[in-house]
Amino acid sequence: MDLVQKDLKYIWHPCSQMKDYEELPPIIINHAKGLYLYDTEGKRYADVVSSWWCNLLGHCNERINNAVKHQIDRLEHVIFANFSHMPAIELCEKLSQIVPKGLTKLFFTDNGSSAIEAAMKMSFQYHYQTGNPQKKKFMALSDAYHGETLGSLSVSGVDLYSEIYKPMLLDIIRVEGPDCYRCKYGKYRENCNAECFEKAQKAFDEHGAETCAFVVEPLVQAAAGMKIYPPIYLKKLRACCDAHNIHLIADEIAVGYGRTGKMFACEHAEISPDIMCMSKGLTGGYMPMALAAVTDEIYNAFYADYNESRAFMHSHTYCGNPLACSAALEVLKIMEDSHILQKAKSNAVYFNKLIREKLEDYEFAGDIRSIGLINAIELVKDKKTKEPFDSKQRLGYQIYKEALKSGVLLRPLGDVLYFNPPLIIEQEDMDFVVDVLNKSTRQILG
Ligand SMILES: *Cc1c(COP(=O)(O)O)cnc(C)c1O
Repeated sequence: MDLVQKDLKYIWHPCSQMKDYEELPPIIINHAKGLYLYDTEGKRYADVVSSWWCNLLGHCNERINNAVKHQIDRLEHVIFANFSHMPAIELCEKLSQIVPKGLTKLFFTDNGSSAIEAAMKMSFQYHYQTGNPQKKKFMALSDAYHGETLGSLSVSGVDLYSEIYKPMLLDIIRVEGPDCYRCKYGKYRENCNAECFEKAQKAFDEHGAETCAFVVEPLVQAAAGMKIYPPIYLKKLRACCDAHNIHLIADEIAVGYGRTGKMFACEHAEISPDIMCMSKGLTGGYMPMALAAVTDEIYNAFYADYNESRAFMHSHTYCGNPLACSAALEVLKIMEDSHILQKAKSNAVYFNKLIREKLEDYEFAGDIRSIGLINAIELVKDKKTKEPFDSKQRLGYQIYKEALKSGVLLRPLGDVLYFNPPLIIEQEDMDFVVDVLNKSTRQILG
């Protein structure tokens, strides 16, 4: 039996219709370096989706490899209740200087969804313990994505992932979110006043008293198709949360760590959330780990004599794993030493210009949007009416398969093609991947 047959015999792959693997078998990756993955036959693929948005500084980064190798011979793991270790302490000391001001304590979990779950439980318990037990609901935007465990899936609003499970999920206050490409107010993201915030305002007026937290992806609803909205929306959200004693939980799992051109997307709006969740870029894409950063005010509501039963009784076996912490610590050092953010910023200008040059006039490129190195091209049937293609045609998937032949891993979100590459991508790589995207798209759509 060859490797592919063995794979399909034993493995159920995530987020896939396994029947699709009959025509497109799994690509078995042997090794990787920088932007590129290499399969068992030596064929190269440009990983412009950062392997589900987590690979931050390229694959097999020498410095991160060495940091993990060094750590593995000292301590691979230790229980994190009552025990601690150097990599965790150093990481949190460094991070506390970088996160938005007011966030002072860091709580470890072991993946993004579990960080959202922890944040939701913290917020609920905070209100319970500060005399507001009636605050037990959550607000979230339409088209949100916050993970796929039951709590995080409840606040998510992308039907593709949640529809079937609705009978199992929490009752959420869903707020119709911004939709800048198809703005119902006839405005533009660059200069609007977030007129669409009136929908959120209404939800706050009606449900503010029973709500403990608003969970939001700052500036980019990534899984929804890299939908970008203006900072003014976040500013208004912060003000409304303050007015109603509601926590603002910023899900920076996808957009944090420089993806939008700043370390955290919240910085564009000059706001601080009450809880901020980080994961994907945190370890450079090396190991599963996540963090919830919280304020002193929240932390202090849990701090009491043991018998008052106020502690946060939440744990994941692998939280604070030393190997993951050593990778995460090295990521921060590299970002600092190598001026990663500054370089990514100037490359982002080049990348976006290149994409516009090649695709702006293309008859099916409805919207080209970008922030930092994130660039998305939404394909539509009719540019004037913005009418989408029939999703049953699976055009994004056809383009994905075409681009793979030329060595680029695109994995579109429906008919939204996008790039979310590691921050170290070079200009010659950009030339290559934009060329392949352009050719593959025209090959399929004409
Ligand atoms: C990926 C993601 C999550 C979930 O993280 P997992 O590690 O996959 O559980 C949550 N929120 C956002 C915005 C994400 O992109």
